[in-house]
Amino acid sequence: MRRPTPLNSRPGKNLKMEKNSFVKPRGFLEKLKNIFSSGPAREHIEDVEEALIEADIDLEIISGILEAIKRDKISDYEGVKKLLKDIFSDSLNQPSVAPQALKKVIILCGINGAGKTTTAAKLSGIYAKNGGKVIFAAADTFRAAAIEQLEAWAKASGTRIIKGIDGGDPAAVVFDAVKNAKNGGCDMLIIDTAGRLHTKSNLMLELGKIKKVVLKDYPEDEIDTLLVIDANTGKNAFSQAKEFNESIKLTGVILTKFDSSAKGGSIIRIAHELRLPIKYMTYGEDAGAISVFDPQEFVDKLFD
Ligand code: GDP
Repeated sequence: MRRPTPLNSRPGKNLKMEKNSFVKPRGFLEKLKNIFSSGPAREHIEDVEEALIEADIDLEIISGILEAIKRDKISDYEGVKKLLKDIFSDSLNQPSVAPQALKKVIILCGINGAGKTTTAAKLSGIYAKNGGKVIFAAADTFRAAAIEQLEAWAKASGTRIIKGIDGGDPAAVVFDAVKNAKNGGCDMLIIDTAGRLHTKSNLMLELGKIKKVVLKDYPEDEIDTLLVIDANTGKNAFSQAKEFNESIKLTGVILTKFDSSAKGGSIIRIAHELRLPIKYMTYGEDAGAISVFDPQEFVDKLFD
């Protein structure tokens, strides 16, 4: 089992760079560069459109980009790069997707390996630093190591953890955790959930059950249901987000592994089309490697 680093460790230390990116923004920028090297974009508008569609940018944003290229007679790569940066920043700066403060209960969901457990620890670190009292619910009872992993983080940070047995009922763990949180005057309950069950529909049903249990004691507006998305996910990210959103109505997204070579460009479509705020971004395995999502920093790095 990987030993967690203490919560006061230096952010960004021991960063592990991910190698297996699927859609690299750099690839998409390379494509645009090639298009522009063979003449002004106006003459290759269909190629530009194709490159944007391939990069999984949503259609509304694409039509805005194409219109601006024609209107402003953009003729070189630097011009289109600036245009894309402005349009992406604008779409992430809409009030409907602005990051808001986290709520009292956080349900972290997402596929296996996305970074849910690590993110749970990081979020608790932020709250603990401000004197907040946090309880973890180890509701990923499907993956054997998940409970141990969260327990190790809990031990390192002095956070209370409510857990069940491997393979036990996650909703029962959440039931206990909710009671403990209510009775123990806790400021935040963070629920780590499974990323995979025997079938996808099982997973969604389980998440629905977890949410129902929380709703017995907390009103909807005190619950954040956050999708944890790995920046390496590429094109799949949007369909993943759509599926989770349809099943359990997400309230936001956390983008993980922003330190990897892929920068998670797909979240632009997630934020814009599903109207979901990107609340935090994480950029390393250390407990401190998390910050409130900053659209400008994100877009700058995307085009770095
Ligand atoms: P889960 O299955 O969704 O709970 O994912 P984990 O929290 O177990 O994380 C999967 C792997 O990703 C672990 O090795 C983590 O240390 C690593 N990880 C999580 N967040 C980050 C991050 O922001 N950057 C990097 N480089 N690795 C991360």
